Amino acid sequence: MSATSTVQLMDGTSLAKRIEDAAARAAEISPRTGTSPCLATVLVGEDPASATYVRMKQARCAKTGSRSRHIGLPATTTTAELIDTLAGLSSDPGVHGILLQHPCGPHIDERAAFEAIAPEKDVDGVTMHSFVAMSFVLPGFVSCTPGGIMRLLEAYDVDLAGKHAVVVGRSAILGNPAGMLLLVMNATVTYSPSRTAGLSAIVREADVVVAAVGRRRLIRGEGVKPGAVVVDAGHDPGNVGDVDFDTASTRTRLITPVPGGVGPMTIAILPAQTVDAAANLLGIQRH
Ligand code: NAP
Repeated sequence: MSATSTVQLMDGTSLAKRIEDAAARAAEISPRTGTSPCLATVLVGEDPASATYVRMKQARCAKTGSRSRHIGLPATTTTAELIDTLAGLSSDPGVHGILLQHPCGPHIDERAAFEAIAPEKDVDGVTMHSFVAMSFVLPGFVSCTPGGIMRLLEAYDVDLAGKHAVVVGRSAILGNPAGMLLLVMNATVTYSPSRTAGLSAIVREADVVVAAVGRRRLIRGEGVKPGAVVVDAGHDPGNVGDVDFDTASTRTRLITPVPGGVGPMTIAILPAQTVDAAANLLGIQRH
């Protein structure tokens, strides 16, 4: 990648719209099957932010022609009860995708709950099966945010082979699978968790930076290699990202804005994968 001062934005909003339009076209499987894709959403407790996220995801699915079935469980739900619910949805032929909204509460063993989701319905990409499938390039569903990041990089023709990608953060839903997907594309991947020594020197070496931390403007422009591609997955208080956009964008070749970069992509992947899951389960041939 050559150094340049011309900033180009990776526009997640318009790419997400294209993905949703494609999902909507693909969702037109109902005339052929007498049914439409169905996403089951499961929410434990009444956290208003989580409830809002679930409603937003249901609305996006509706926009792309999928139905939702919502299961609201009381905050007192035990792990065993949640597992029962998820296992029931996993074996229900009328459900094609399952979303367990997290966090579920400190008393719930979330990992055990996620594993009760059948892999073929894991449209949020949260099971161990999905993680292994991502890593080994096997059929399966990706975690939505890392999947959205990869779709953005692909859409902007970012050739990852042989490039040094630094992923700052390693959470199970974001940094960890994002690095795995970059590795699959033959990038040389460095993970930087919170105890990283000399983070700025590591980031400065990166051809591609994925910021997945949750710290406002942690990565400053002067810490970015000129000509780098920067994906800011952070969504931090004040509607800003983990990267200081104003200073970084004077040096990057490509950068995602916050908002309007990774966020809309994350939202688009769930309905797209719900439609894919329905097509797979209903035995619809895809083109
Ligand atoms: P998380 O579970 O809190 O994980 C944060 C990660 O950042 C951890 O791996 C942590 O390392 C690492 N970290 C913390 N401080 C660090 C530092 N100073 N240097 C390097 N690494 C550091 O957060 P998350 O769920 O992954 O979310 C991260 C950000 O992405 C948040 O802003 C969140 O809002 C945003 N997000 C956006 C979307 C979207 O659609 N745009 C989706 C999901 C999340 P340790 O593992 O060592 O603790």
